[in-house]
Amino acid sequence: MSIDEYDVVVAGAGTAGCYAATTIANEGLDVVIVERKDEEEAGHIACGDALKGADAFPEAIPKARLEPAFTNTGVDHGRFEIPKEDTVLEIPVPGELAVIDRWEYGRRIIEAAGDAGVDFHYDTVVNDVVQTDDGRVTGLEASRRGDRATYEADLVIDGAGSLSLLQDKADFEGTTFDTNVRYSQFCSAYREIVEVPEPVEWDDALVFKPTDRAAGYLWYFPRTATEINAGLGFQMNEEPMKLVEALKRDLRNRPEFEGAEVRDKLGAALPTRRPYDSAVAPGYLAVGDAAGHVNPTTGGGIAGAAYAGKYAGEQAVKAVSDGDVSEENLWRYNTRVMDHFGGRYAGLDVYNVLSTAIDVDDLMGLLASLPGEKLAEALYEGSTSMSFGLKLKAAIKSFGYWGTIRNFYQTKSLADELLAHYESYPTSPAAMANWTHERDAIMDRIYETTGADAKY
Ligand SMILES: Cc1cc2nc3c(=O)[nH]c(=O)nc-3n(C[C@H](O)[C@H](O)[C@H](O)COP(=O)(O)OP(=O)(O)OC[C@H]3O[C@@H](n4cnc5c(N)ncnc54)[C@H](O)[C@@H]3O)c2cc1C
Repeated sequence: MSIDEYDVVVAGAGTAGCYAATTIANEGLDVVIVERKDEEEAGHIACGDALKGADAFPEAIPKARLEPAFTNTGVDHGRFEIPKEDTVLEIPVPGELAVIDRWEYGRRIIEAAGDAGVDFHYDTVVNDVVQTDDGRVTGLEASRRGDRATYEADLVIDGAGSLSLLQDKADFEGTTFDTNVRYSQFCSAYREIVEVPEPVEWDDALVFKPTDRAAGYLWYFPRTATEINAGLGFQMNEEPMKLVEALKRDLRNRPEFEGAEVRDKLGAALPTRRPYDSAVAPGYLAVGDAAGHVNPTTGGGIAGAAYAGKYAGEQAVKAVSDGDVSEENLWRYNTRVMDHFGGRYAGLDVYNVLSTAIDVDDLMGLLASLPGEKLAEALYEGSTSMSFGLKLKAAIKSFGYWGTIRNFYQTKSLADELLAHYESYPTSPAAMANWTHERDAIMDRIYETTGADAKY
């Protein structure tokens, strides 16, 4: 049995944990990352390998340290294949986008954290959270190759990923920490790294394709012209899907994958839900997937995890230096997350809710009937202007989907209202109950309009 004392103990050596711990170590505090995997396997994470917005990543780990893992920086658009409509939509993706070697990226952020002074304890599985009688978190219990390891710290950061075990163990009674978390708010996803014999023609595109479930898609993301990350996922409120078989079936029908070899396989759950209403409790902060910091329409979570790590790290430094790890003193972390991306993700979650209630063929038919370049404007800028002629053409092609369009329009108005509500996210825990009450009233109208089952 071992007992270790640190200012901060972080569970999980993923993006969120590494950015949080590096931020803390850079300020001279003692911090350890406790990781269940061994040193070799750490950083090997199930992912589509698409990294968006790396140009503006938090500076705690400089972009130059990540860049060697960027294997394809030539990707500039999405290619949406809609076989039933015999259509392919090409939609430009604004901003910096790279497909990466995810394991190499994982190793590089761990290496950068180590260089900043973060200790790493591998092979160490957190299995309990230590709390005082009044509920403050003071450390973790773990198991290392059969031996017990105890961590005592002023603050615990939970970066243990989707459906973090720490949250099952902690008692959050009497705190604002969001415990309204269920499997059905998550997506189950699986991916393979596939080597193809000849370069693919679409090595400058992220390729998407619908599955037979509305809230899910198949993807083909080119790490290089001959190394493809191929995967798929479905929202877990739907009938379970046999992911491995469904992927195999699709690969078999694509001529470019003839003679291909599978190099690696991994699957995991990811939170395709709104960010946790509050990700703090006394002595405790949750970051990244452990706090729902993922874009619920695309499943992209690396950027959210990196920023959440930075904000949590900075708040942890302040709280430990103040000698005050109360919810009140950690709260600014919540507000920074909501201001930066959390409110936007909560707004996008409305479309995830909508997609669980609509017919996939209807949605694809509608998409195929709209002009691609206008769709791109609407997707990235939230608005679009069409000439009268184009409007007329789109209207004629989309005849038959007008009921769906009307429903989308009403849903979009509610998503905008929700987004505006997140702009007044409370500045202290005391105001949380009222804010949540009003938010839930907007959600009720969203369920009514979309016909979807309540997600929360
Ligand atoms: C199939 C799939 C495809 C995806 N595709 C993309 C994509 O293309 N682009 C994108 O941006 N995002 C994508 N995501 C989401 C992205 O991978 C995550 O949002 C991101 O990795 C979250 O980082 P994190 O640090 O919060 O968690 P993770 O990266 O999951 O790290 C958590 C760490 O905690 C460790 N851990 C867990 N439990 C314990 C424990 N009890 N004790 C000790 N250690 C523990 C784990 O071993 C792991 O190292 C995808 C996810 C999946 C599943």
